[in-house]
Parts: sequence; structure tokens; C-alpha cells
Amino acid sequence: MNEFYEKVKDCYNDYFDRTEEVFIFAPGRVNLIGEHIDYNGGKVLPCSLSVGTYGAASKRKDGRILLVSADFSGSYIETEADVIEELKDEPESFEAFGWAAYPLGVFKKLLMRGFKLGGFEMAVSGSLPRGSGLSSSASLEILTCAVLKKLFRLELDGVTASVLSVEAERDCAGVNCGIMDQFICAMGKKDKAILLDTSTLEYEYTPFILKDYTLLIMNTKKPRRLADSKYNERRAECEKAVSVIGKKLVPERKNLCDITPEEFDRVKELLKEPVIKRARHAVYENGRTLDAVRALQNGDIALFGKLIDASHDSLRDDYEVTGIELDTIVEAARAQKGVLGARMTGAGFGGCAIALVEKESAEEAKKNIERIYKEKIGYDCEIMKAETFDSPFAV
Ligand code: ADP
Ligand code: MG
Repeated sequence: MNEFYEKVKDCYNDYFDRTEEVFIFAPGRVNLIGEHIDYNGGKVLPCSLSVGTYGAASKRKDGRILLVSADFSGSYIETEADVIEELKDEPESFEAFGWAAYPLGVFKKLLMRGFKLGGFEMAVSGSLPRGSGLSSSASLEILTCAVLKKLFRLELDGVTASVLSVEAERDCAGVNCGIMDQFICAMGKKDKAILLDTSTLEYEYTPFILKDYTLLIMNTKKPRRLADSKYNERRAECEKAVSVIGKKLVPERKNLCDITPEEFDRVKELLKEPVIKRARHAVYENGRTLDAVRALQNGDIALFGKLIDASHDSLRDDYEVTGIELDTIVEAARAQKGVLGARMTGAGFGGCAIALVEKESAEEAKKNIERIYKEKIGYDCEIMKAETFDSPFAV
């Protein structure tokens, strides 16, 4: 058991003065490859991580809901199951709950699906940085689903949990997000990644067995300020591209990621810069994701490393969503002994990058990257080692 286990148990005990009925861990996630193509009908390849959110909880007979996060002071929230039942599922109704809009949003969405719930109390703590693209929000939502499932003996499967968690995040917390994060936090398994078709929710498990390697999760600590406006701009550029070249192909293609690299090269002259580069990223990134799955199936970790390098380079040069902090941390990682590949992950402009490194070189690499980043950027990054891990719904 680790320090978070103790932290959550102590916090639960301090606030509620008894021992919890259930204790659950829900993983965070990284997307290994397939970046910025979830809105182009592409496939993504995330895995669930050994860093995530821990929760201790019990049912209450009085119908009250008491929630506390051990991660910051002033987090304690009290409400009632009946109050949540009456609220409308919109951000204005949940705003006053702060961070607890995520667990309470999940509670609301379960009620709306007809699940029978009552009062409960829960203490949580996360071992992953919040707001850095490792999906602490989805991890907290899936944790809540798993806790409520166990406390109230719900017939709740992982896919339903992920769909209602996205709805909670969108409608109650007011954050517009796709399905990938919740899906992998709910369905991920140790030593596996999931190839997920974000438009159909078809998915398949792919072996992701690192053996002598480990993943470094490198948090640039740069706030992702630009991410929202640039995200909308990139989406618009991709829509423009597919509206022009999709029609020229037979059969017509509705999504950029349905276009093969060969087809793209035939028709790309119909586009102007920068739209041509944006489209090139989407078309080729989708191909790289499928190549990455084949590499993993063949146990070819070295090729997998090269593909994640290529993904970053495309996000830097063609999609232009990296920035000096992500580029610096990725370059620093690539220069280290035992590193097979490194790339940004998530929306970009800050947040986290990942590196695939030999276990025996990981500690040395971590120290060197931290030093180089501090020298070049002027403040500290945060690097941790992570393994893949089972989600509570996948075991
Ligand atoms: P990300 O999902 O990339 O980490 P988000 O901004 O989507 O970033 O979600 C972060 C928010 O989720 C936090 O601001 C907080 O409201 C909530 N959250 C996540 N983990 C915890 C936690 N352990 N304790 C309290 N709130 C948490
Ligand atoms: Mg999030």
C-alpha cells in the first residue's frame, strides 16, 4: 500500500470518524498515440495508469452526501441525495459545488438513468497532477461510478459508466469533452492499451507490455492556456479540409481519417496552407496509430518508440500545437540513454509529455531531463514513472 492509501484512509477517518465500507482506485490515462484525431473520425490508443484517484466511502442512512478531497483545504461539501435529484443537470446548478460537481454530476446522471441511490460519504485523493492532461477529472468520475456501484450494488458496466461520466462532465461540470478519457479510465487494463474508434465506440485491447521499459510522464507545469482557442481553430481547419478533398474522392469521405495517405497525396493540392499541413497530420497520424498497434502486437517496442517520435514531430511542425515547453522536454528526453521515443500527449500547448525509457536508465534520465528543463525554461517540471493498471470496471 502506498502513501495515498494512507492519506485517503486518514482523511476519511478524520472527517467521518469510522472505517470506510469500500476503498477503490480508479486510474488516470495517457493517450499513447493518435493525437488530435478523435474529432476527425480517427482512432486513439490510450492506456490506463498506475497513477489515478483513490477513494474511501460508505453509505449513509440519513440521505446526506458528504464529500472531501484530501488534496486541498476547504474542499468539504455537504448536500443531500434529494437535493441532487431535484437539481437540473446544467453547470449553473452544480457550480456552487466546485470540484464536487464531478462526483455529484455522476450521481445525478445515475439517478437520471433510474439507478436507486441514497446518501453516502466519500474522501478522495489523486496521485496524478490535476489539470495537466492525465484526466484527473475522468479518473474522479469513474472512481465515483465504481464507489456507487459497490455501495448500492448497481448493475453498472464500464461502457455505461464512461458514457454517463462524459455527460456529467459536459452537463454538470460544464467541460466539453470527448469520450476517450472516461472510456479508458473505466475500461483500461494492466499491460494493455485500447484501440478506440471514437466515432463508433468500437474498441479492441492491444498488448502493451513494457517488460524492461517504463513510461515517464513529464509534466511541463505550463498551464494549457492557449489550448481551447487553438483547439477550435484546428477543428475548423480540419472541417474545411474534409469539405474540400473529401468530396473529390470516390466514395466520398466524411472524415479526414477515412482518407488514406495515398489518396491524400493525390488531392492535397486542392488545399491551401496551413490547412494542408493540418490535414496531413490527421491523415498520417491515423496511419501511425494503426502501425503502432501492429508494432505492439509484434512486440516491437523500438518501432513503437519511433512512431511516437514521429507523432510529436507532426504535432510540432504540421499541427503546431506543441510550444517551447513541450518541445524542450521532449528533446531533453530523446537525448537520454535508453529512451526509445517521446511525445506530447493531450491537447498540447502545455500539460504533459511521455517518454518510453529502459527501466534501468529511467532514474538517470529523469534527473537529466529535470535539470535540462529547468536550465532552458526557468522553472521545474515534474516527472514520474508510471505503469499500466487495471480499471475497477475491467477486472
Ligand atoms: P485533467 O482532467 O486534465 O486533470 P481537468 O481540468 O479536466 O484536468 O480536471 C481537473 C479538475 O478535476 C480539478 O480542478 C478538480 O475540480 C477535479 N479533480 C480531479 N481530481 C481531484 C481530486 N483528487 N480532488 C479534488 N478534485 C479533483
Ligand atoms: Mg479532464
